[in-house]
Amino acid sequence: MDYDEGQGWHDARIVPYGPLPIDPAAMVLHYAQEVFEGLKAYKTQDGRILLFRPEENFKRMNVSNERLCIPPIDPAFMIEALNKLILVEKDWVPSLEGTSLYIRPFIIATDPHLGVRPSHHYYFIVILCPVGAYYPEGLNPVKIYVETNYVRTVKGGMGFAKTGGNYAASLKAQDEAHEQEYTQVLWLDGVERKYVEEVGTMNVFFQINGTVVTPALQGSILSGITRKSTIEMLRYWGVPVEERRITIDEIAQVADEGHLDEAFGTGTAAVISPIGELKWGEKHMVINSGEIGPLSHRLYDTLTGIQWGKHPDPLHWTHEVK
Ligand code: PMP
Repeated sequence: MDYDEGQGWHDARIVPYGPLPIDPAAMVLHYAQEVFEGLKAYKTQDGRILLFRPEENFKRMNVSNERLCIPPIDPAFMIEALNKLILVEKDWVPSLEGTSLYIRPFIIATDPHLGVRPSHHYYFIVILCPVGAYYPEGLNPVKIYVETNYVRTVKGGMGFAKTGGNYAASLKAQDEAHEQEYTQVLWLDGVERKYVEEVGTMNVFFQINGTVVTPALQGSILSGITRKSTIEMLRYWGVPVEERRITIDEIAQVADEGHLDEAFGTGTAAVISPIGELKWGEKHMVINSGEIGPLSHRLYDTLTGIQWGKHPDPLHWTHEVK
């Protein structure tokens, strides 16, 4: 689909996958004016195809668009268009347990213009890619370290938007974490460097003395759809949840006192990712003896069960493609 100033979004179409005709001076290549989303389609055992809360992705895309000076899209139109696209490509939705069709909608600024201003032309594109199971050998706890050299975003920045610049800013930290055999980093806030924010591509949760705590949305972290679903499911179960600021000192203290029951990340790719070890400088916190905790397990089984249509969907999250 194209956007032209004065004309709006137009010419939604399905075309074979291939390289893009793009001008070397296209603004996205120089000034990174772009946004993207990520969601999945799942095939159930009885052959239905389900999307998980797609309206949330397109609502979030408009939040990102606004920050990046990109014109808004119509979420209802996009869900209808996505529905049509998946029906055309339905044979690519894998049916093996744990697999899915990854859906990547994105918008890029395509004006050939060597000066900083919002573009007047955009492409909205959706690519599809079958993906294997995230945990082919079963759910596994990850090792995370607290990032103390780099910051991903600051107050007033674009941390809440799903835009490539945020990921470019995090590459160096991620690379260094991998070199030390850690899966991802845990970011701290960019001002005081003490409040916990999020993990590389996941939001983060801590269970402290039975209460689940997750950093509040204050403009610097992504408003994850799995985060939202986790909070809603926990409340549906009657588990206490707090969205608030939480310092890394508090985490270290409750870990020392033996009150840190569990920690886990949430995101579309892993769904729930238990954290077995958290390193902060010289301090190593082993959480729940490095094992998967009962809450992480229950959330993982419930959310993935809903996505693969094996579990009832009490909060009406799935959208059937038909
Ligand atoms: N934070 C960041 C930076 C991410 O890239 C993601 C993955 N989209 C998340 C959090 C989790 O968001 P979601 O649950 O919507 O996938």
